[in-house]
Amino acid sequence: MQNMPFPIDWFQQQTTPFYYYDFRILQKTLEAAKKAVVENDNYHLHYAVKANSNPQILKKISQAGLGADCVSGGEIKAALAAGFPASSIVFAGVGKADWEIKLALEVQISCFNVESIPELYVINDLAAEQGVKANIAFRITPNIDAHTNSKITTGLRENKFGIAMEDMVFAVKEAISLPHINYVGLHFHIGSQILDNSRFAVLSERINKLQDQLDAENIKTSTINVGGGLGVNYEYPDEHLIPDFKKYIDTFRHILKLRPGQQVHFELGRSIVAQCGTLISRVLYVKEGHNKKFLILDAGFTDLIRPAMYNAFHLAQNLTATTKKIEKYDIVGPICESSDIFIKDFYMPEGKRGDLIAFRSAGAYGEIMASQYNCRSLPNSIVSE
Ligand code: PLP
Repeated sequence: MQNMPFPIDWFQQQTTPFYYYDFRILQKTLEAAKKAVVENDNYHLHYAVKANSNPQILKKISQAGLGADCVSGGEIKAALAAGFPASSIVFAGVGKADWEIKLALEVQISCFNVESIPELYVINDLAAEQGVKANIAFRITPNIDAHTNSKITTGLRENKFGIAMEDMVFAVKEAISLPHINYVGLHFHIGSQILDNSRFAVLSERINKLQDQLDAENIKTSTINVGGGLGVNYEYPDEHLIPDFKKYIDTFRHILKLRPGQQVHFELGRSIVAQCGTLISRVLYVKEGHNKKFLILDAGFTDLIRPAMYNAFHLAQNLTATTKKIEKYDIVGPICESSDIFIKDFYMPEGKRGDLIAFRSAGAYGEIMASQYNCRSLPNSIVSE
């Protein structure tokens, strides 16, 4: 695919920093994701709202027919406002507050992904108050190392998420015994930014074993939710604008041994929205140090925290460079913290005050994680049609 086309003249007239979302890329991504599941009508795509809950993005994704994976009452409200039917919403999270559970019951979401036994009892009690039965799936921690950043690995036993495999049968039996709980399935999520499909193969094999255990207890499970986690290429976004959804989905298709009528859910975040989003900022100053040159931007970690938080790499491009001369820069923001660095020792065309600098692949966990630290304004967002 060609380099992402940016409307640079138009960018010049905008106040920076801002997020730019290319909806043609989003559309193509959604089409590719849907095409990958179409062969099996029991495979369903959900979008993990946490990756980006910009209302225009959510609307586009709901129009494409994906369900929503939410992790808070606020996300449930955002998903409903964007047009996701309540019946397509699942609700995960280790610390669901009572008001969030009540809201989810009132609007009749499709399923709670329950992460602990105490939570199960609270959902049962709150469902009893409303005289309803709550559909629940258990989030099982499959003890798989996702080989990704430790801050985004969630499938290991010592994580705060989910119920240990050893406790699964007890948890399911407990759920079945409760009058206001309807046990429907199992939920997994081993981590994020996973580029090695063998991790998903290991997950599928683990799910097969767990299903055998439930069979032995005569327990019927109707839904298997394998979570999200498919990674994107941050180094070479133009060559990989659309993630390989087919290879990812086929990994499950080939290994998972489904029982008759079982439904499989995916809840993808990053792979759906990362590549359509770019953070656009401006060079405020070029500072010549003794050993280093700095590009000081008007965007900082308040706008895009992934480099400071996860040491994540976002490809930086000077959209308005007027020379081919290459320089080495530390690209930094204006925040009063030494961690406010986007990239160190990065080679790019010589920059000057006023140049537009793009940070690519910023559509996931970018705008949504923005903060107002240092009393800064939240970044704007602009969408291409
Ligand atoms: N599902 C759950 C339970 C998650 O915690 C996450 C992300 O952390 C996702 C889905 C989405 O993951 P990703 O953005 O890697 O696809």
